[in-house]
Amino acid sequence: MIYTDTRDKTVRTDFRTAVLNGMNATTGGLYIPVEFPVLDKSLLSRKTEPCFRETAFAMAKPYVSGEISDDQLMQIISDAYPFTAMVKPIDKLSYILELFHGPTCAFKDFGARFMARVMSYFNKNEDTPLHILVATSGDTGSAVGSAFSNVPGLDVTILYPEGKISPLQEKQLSTFTGNVRALRVAGTFDDCQRLVKTAFTDGDLRKKFRLSSANSINISRLLPQSFYYMYAALVVKNRSWQYNHIENPSIIAVVPSGNFGNLTSGLIAREMGAPIAGFVAATNTNHTIPDWIATGSYDPRPSVETYANAMDVGAPSNYERMQAMYSLNEIRDLFASYWLDNDGIIEAIRNCYSKTGYIIDPHGSIAWEAWYDIRHGAIEALAGGQKGDYTKPGLTPNLPSWYKKVIEKQALGIILETAHPAKFSETVSKAIGRMPSLPERLEKVMSLPDNSVSLKNDYTLFKDWLEANLR
Ligand SMILES: *Cc1c(COP(=O)(O)O)cnc(C)c1O
Repeated sequence: MIYTDTRDKTVRTDFRTAVLNGMNATTGGLYIPVEFPVLDKSLLSRKTEPCFRETAFAMAKPYVSGEISDDQLMQIISDAYPFTAMVKPIDKLSYILELFHGPTCAFKDFGARFMARVMSYFNKNEDTPLHILVATSGDTGSAVGSAFSNVPGLDVTILYPEGKISPLQEKQLSTFTGNVRALRVAGTFDDCQRLVKTAFTDGDLRKKFRLSSANSINISRLLPQSFYYMYAALVVKNRSWQYNHIENPSIIAVVPSGNFGNLTSGLIAREMGAPIAGFVAATNTNHTIPDWIATGSYDPRPSVETYANAMDVGAPSNYERMQAMYSLNEIRDLFASYWLDNDGIIEAIRNCYSKTGYIIDPHGSIAWEAWYDIRHGAIEALAGGQKGDYTKPGLTPNLPSWYKKVIEKQALGIILETAHPAKFSETVSKAIGRMPSLPERLEKVMSLPDNSVSLKNDYTLFKDWLEANLR
């Protein structure tokens, strides 16, 4: 596959370069494949349940061809995914896609684990390790740390703001051993990010060490997230007649979004033939994208803290990819958008629990409520000419092309549940008066020793530490 860039479509590069560079330093753009090949008919129209790994292999193959052999790719996929995505019916017109069955209990495991193995593969003929530096405010760091743990040829240094993340998140970050280390910085997330950025631009340091980043703009984190969209859409399409008595459903993916990497991966799956008719972009108070869809003007802003904190992004970096892939009118045909504030999140968790018995996390809850509102009058009201107000929580005034299917009850929602509710037990128990039970793998983390190293918010000290500790 050839890759180009969101800012300069004349750029041509290979997968290895796109992965190891993360972004194009010359243009400041993000890498995208020049095309999205449609999967073979034999997979798309098969009448039996798909297999997750087989789907993943078929989806990944065109993007790595000529650079990673089939055998190696199969190895990467089976190492990355000892777990799977799970599709569960929750009511007559909705499915939950549980994406939290990986080691850190959040969907970021899908992207980070694939990326780690691909980077290791591309580094295997080098004599020196590749040093990954990550600044994190929570979930990304644990997914990346866990994904790279014991992966040969790579090591990871995580910086996180001491005392500014949840105790469980801090445990997840501070208990790594071996090739993954955590520095707890006396400062904010922005300070951590500044330390990392300064290191990347420090010529002296870069002469001594090969440095790379692992952030969410990397194409090797985005592509693997498309695997579970394809998988889930095929599962739901296969089940729709027997379970939902709908012959030919319009399948809508409802995606809790922050940086919009997850949703962009859904767009890629759709391009590759996934039977997905449209999307719902569901956000918290950081509703930059719903506003853009409603008004046509893109207005990035500082982020606001919410209960769905992994979506606290005011300037979503994948806006640039969505915009490179589609016109605003195409986006408006494909997307409904929806947002909730903190009160709405609590109400949504409660609603989901009382109507279905399912305990949902604060991020997924926005998607659940969006899909509930959409099929209980909100879209019909818009279709009937109601104006709607994009500055208020709820469905943003925009009618996607699939709206009639919702009114006719011929649409099935796939609600992406991006984290295990136990990771946000305080908010969940505030809503429903009970704690979700902690999965064993999170419970285990709570009893591991803390190996983090304390660091002052000072670049010289950070650099000294790197020079003394990196190999
Ligand atoms: C990162 C994250 C999101 C947001 O995903 P984006 O790809 O940034 O839109 C949603 N939910 C959870 C639990 C996350 O960790």
